[in-house]
Amino acid sequence: MKIEVINCLSDNYSYLILDEKTNTVSIVDPSEFDQCNKAIQKYDRLDYILNTHHHADHVGGNIELKQKYNSKIIGFDCDNNRIPGIDILLKDNQSQKIGSLIFKTIFIPGHTKGHIAFYFKNEKVIFTGDTLFSLGCGRVFEGTHEDMFNSLGKLKILPSETKVYCGHEYTKSNLNFCLMYDLKNKELKEKSLEINQKIKNKLPTIPTTIGEELRTNIFLRCDNNDIKRVLNLKDSPEQEVFSKLRDLKDAF
Ligand code: ZN
Ligand code: FE
Repeated sequence: MKIEVINCLSDNYSYLILDEKTNTVSIVDPSEFDQCNKAIQKYDRLDYILNTHHHADHVGGNIELKQKYNSKIIGFDCDNNRIPGIDILLKDNQSQKIGSLIFKTIFIPGHTKGHIAFYFKNEKVIFTGDTLFSLGCGRVFEGTHEDMFNSLGKLKILPSETKVYCGHEYTKSNLNFCLMYDLKNKELKEKSLEINQKIKNKLPTIPTTIGEELRTNIFLRCDNNDIKRVLNLKDSPEQEVFSKLRDLKDAF
């Protein structure tokens, strides 16, 4: 499996997936036609389009790409009315082949009601759309804070070496937020040097890994006593801490 990061719009990432065994080409969340088409041209084929959710900045290239390459569009069955051109409707926890690669859907509502992740267990790769970001999580638009908290809980338990490819380059702003409330986290401070270097060199800060996120992403660390204390929520349950952090981040 080869993954190519495609910069789209102002801060979106689309991802091209090449299955080298069968030469199958897929793309995750094509934000726009032109940038994705440039990346696809060297293969001159696009077999599948995978959509994590229906927002325009994730499906914007669907129809034009499908028309040009006769691709099959894959998405969550409950969102079949909102994902343009959808062909293959998947349920939660369903397996699907793209060439010789197999992924499983993980239903992770909160940002939208129909948000899914694509988990390639054998390759230890997951595409998390606008749910889990590097050092952050998505805004809660359609679901509840509880939905988002539970969805992140499903991602937390994946093998720590799993590489995470998310929908946006929000890492710098997420980092600044984490640094404000997770003051004693040494690994976060180390990671900040690495992130600043990458951003200075105009490189993507993606992928991250589940393990790194567990140690540095404040939204996955709501059980941490130092963080709880900073928020004056020393005796509160994890979910309440999460909710407080999400509110603070919305206003950040
Ligand atoms: Zn979105
Ligand atoms: Fe988005």
